[in-house]
Amino acid sequence: SPILLWFRRDLRLSDHPALHAAAASGRPVIPVFLCDEGVEALGAAPRMRIGLGVEQLARDLKDKGSRLILRRGATHGVLRAMLAETGAGAVWWTRLHDPLSRRQDECLGPQLESVETRAFPGHLLHEPETLRTGAGGSFRSYAAFFRALRTRDMGEPLPPPSRLTAPASWPATERLEDWRLDAAMNRGGSIVASWQQPGETQARARLDRFVAERIGAYAGARDYPGRDGSSRLSENLAYGEISARTCWLAALAALHRGEAGAEQFLKELAWRDFSHHLLFHSPELATDAWRPEWRSFPWTRDTESPLVSAWRRGRTGIRLVDAAMREMYVTGRMHNRSRMIVASLLTKHMLTDWRIGLKWFEDCLTDWDPASNAVNWQWVAGSGPDASPFFRIFSPKAQAKAYDPDGDYARAWIAEWQAAPPSTALSYFEAIPRSWHMSQKDTYPAPVLDLAVARRAALAAFRARPWDQ
Ligand code: FAD
Repeated sequence: SPILLWFRRDLRLSDHPALHAAAASGRPVIPVFLCDEGVEALGAAPRMRIGLGVEQLARDLKDKGSRLILRRGATHGVLRAMLAETGAGAVWWTRLHDPLSRRQDECLGPQLESVETRAFPGHLLHEPETLRTGAGGSFRSYAAFFRALRTRDMGEPLPPPSRLTAPASWPATERLEDWRLDAAMNRGGSIVASWQQPGETQARARLDRFVAERIGAYAGARDYPGRDGSSRLSENLAYGEISARTCWLAALAALHRGEAGAEQFLKELAWRDFSHHLLFHSPELATDAWRPEWRSFPWTRDTESPLVSAWRRGRTGIRLVDAAMREMYVTGRMHNRSRMIVASLLTKHMLTDWRIGLKWFEDCLTDWDPASNAVNWQWVAGSGPDASPFFRIFSPKAQAKAYDPDGDYARAWIAEWQAAPPSTALSYFEAIPRSWHMSQKDTYPAPVLDLAVARRAALAAFRARPWDQ
């Protein structure tokens, strides 16, 4: 009987253990993608972006003589209906590790009790239970985690199936356009225009170009927001358009050829796995401070305060921060260094609850990932495992001097003080809603806070225990 192959954030055909096993079984395979509670819960940008990935996956499956069946509704209800329609005897999928996906995974077995349900690995380099400390527990230190991961045998990537056996008759499919996954993204067009084509082939080409041209210099170049120094694969990895193992092995091969920067790239890939490892072992990390003492810290929680609003809209008067926030709004992307700087400003200088920033990123980032976003926000705020200590407060001025010394990056994204702003800076004003009442003709604001005063106030607040008693 056929196998229903349920795709979620694993939108690829290569190195896909569930698909590989389904193809090897010789049974008919019915690939299916659901607009279910997991997709409905996505923020505006990731929701739009997953739609682009699904569109491309459908094309890739068609090239294999297969189809992608689309259905909308609650996961178990839709799958149950499809099992009845198709006579399928199994539902297979790739395992995910965030709380919502785990609830889906845990419920499906009992809900579909009469059929075979199987969750396969493939989203990470290693499943979170398989890496253990010497004492048998989970890791809390990134350095120890990396040491353990680094020496692991990753195996070989699985090839894409050469063909997939079609069922005797195909079930009906809904139309992706009717789901309007981009409905909340009035600026979706500019994101598409400024970004790569989604999908597996493009992801692979991106990896190959990065490894051929930039991985050697990666360790130094990755820190500059205005440079193309990093791989920009996070979006592809978030939707599983390429496997982490494929990236890891490509970097390892580069390292063996003498490309020193590849070691740093392995370290960053390991941060992705570490984030998922942490979230798997501490699911509360998605919504609560991982360090219990931080749960009673008196963060400012006003989501619409003038400071928060200026932060979101790129109107803080702090150039590097504003450039980064605007770039994210227009393109769905923000450089890692900028993410650390803007998150530090929000949680430290502005003493604002990290969850307010986390939510904004969740809505704006096309590479949004439940584990990486939560772990990194908590890392900056100081409330996470192995986090940045409370007294580490990024100075936006010093960071700009070091990483945007000529101000080119700020000029690329901020129009107000320029006589002839570049198209990137102008595109921001086309993208933002009218209700923000912003125009390129506005005067660029003075800093919304005195950085030195705010820094001292933050340090005093962090030291003013007993908020942690
Ligand atoms: P590269 O430098 O080329 O790194 C290669 C890959 O390693 C990335 O594609 C990514 O998958 C992984 N990686 C790199 N740095 C990290 C990191 N610090 N944590 C986890 N994985 C990492 N990354 C996301 O994928 N989704 C998010 O929602 C996300 N939210 C973040 C929020 C904050 C506050 C911060 C500080 C960082 C966040 N990151 C997130 C991590 C990081 O900024 C991005 O992964 C990186 O900027 C992606 O660019 P790249 O693909 O060119 O990375």
